[in-house]
Amino acid sequence: MEEKGKKMETTVIHGGYDSKEYLGSLSIPIFQTSTFTFDNAEQGERRFRGEEEGYIYSRLANPTVRALEEKIASLEEGEAGLAFGSGMAAVSAVLFALTKAHDHIICSQGIYGCTFGLLKLMNEKYHISHDFCLMETESQIKELIRPETACIYVETPVNPTMKVIDLQLVVKVAKEHGIPVVVDNTFASPYLQQPLSLGCDVVLHSATKYICGHGDVVAGLVVGKKDFIKNMAMTTQKDIGGIISPFDAWLLLRGIKTLPVRMDRHSFNAMKIYELLKSHPMVQNVYYPGDCNHPQYLITKKQMKQGGGLISFEMKGTKKDAQRLLNDLKLIKIAVSLGDTETLIQHPATMTHAVVPTEIREEMGITDQLLRLSVGLEAWEDIWEDLHHALNKAESSSFSS
Ligand SMILES: *Cc1c(COP(=O)(O)O)cnc(C)c1O
Repeated sequence: MEEKGKKMETTVIHGGYDSKEYLGSLSIPIFQTSTFTFDNAEQGERRFRGEEEGYIYSRLANPTVRALEEKIASLEEGEAGLAFGSGMAAVSAVLFALTKAHDHIICSQGIYGCTFGLLKLMNEKYHISHDFCLMETESQIKELIRPETACIYVETPVNPTMKVIDLQLVVKVAKEHGIPVVVDNTFASPYLQQPLSLGCDVVLHSATKYICGHGDVVAGLVVGKKDFIKNMAMTTQKDIGGIISPFDAWLLLRGIKTLPVRMDRHSFNAMKIYELLKSHPMVQNVYYPGDCNHPQYLITKKQMKQGGGLISFEMKGTKKDAQRLLNDLKLIKIAVSLGDTETLIQHPATMTHAVVPTEIREEMGITDQLLRLSVGLEAWEDIWEDLHHALNKAESSSFSS
């Protein structure tokens, strides 16, 4: 293809699309159709048999969705991609594709709340068990491996504690035992981190976040080897049915064009806010992978281009103090989700990770005072002014009480 060898900033815009194929339309058309007509009965038969290329029905494939799948595959440097109606549809399709009843999964300690819920469901219904692992050393992973271990599932940076896991270390152990490694790359985006190029087998995204970037779509994406993706397309996607709509695929294609520009700015703003948060007396701990004092900074430097747009921090005081801080913010919105143009803040213990039992949540490092900030694209001075005002208010009330 003509964009081969071009940089990501160029391929996000031009990659995989030729306007000549679409009457010169600069932006890809939205094929808003449920089904596709056949010229004759025999053609329908050939398409269903897989003897002839062509579209059949939009749950099986759609041209706008296909363009998105090709785009994400090229950004992640993988063979093929598949799009879903949510990040969780992608996570569940991948985990069900890789496991059977009585299998075992090894997971990073600290994962998305609903992924935790899904693992619990798989355990209750199909006896597919899981173990959480810090993944700081090879032996920590090795000692959990069993004959029935079907995959290693990693989130890095870890949600919401912002720990960083060394993907090359995980891959080394996994390869020795022939176990596939799945990475949830939502927090980094392919612009900051490309797990497949580090030897991982499958990468997935909640495209709702940075890939979309504008807080107006819920979607998921998966990239991996051609055979794996094709198998998923014909089973855990086609038959379970968590597909994306053509319009949402189009919005993601539009969002992806500005991914590098947005990630640069998210990371820049986050670094500024991180530095300021660190020095505020009401802030006990701040976790940001781009910080050179972060315990895994060397890993960040090795596998990520920048620190990204997410910061977690612990307030001094109690759960009440953390909640009061949220209520005192004006510009920054209280909302789950992340990666949007707007700066968002949430309280993991009572929001995204409320489903995780207290004991496990504390093991994951999610205390009652922990807050997760998704730094947006506003001027960092304005984001800080809002935070600073609320933190100062917390400080003066802690003195008076
Ligand atoms: C949001 C999120 C998900 C789930 O994605 P949805 O699009 O909300 O279904 C999975 N993993 C991570 C890390 C997330 O942030």
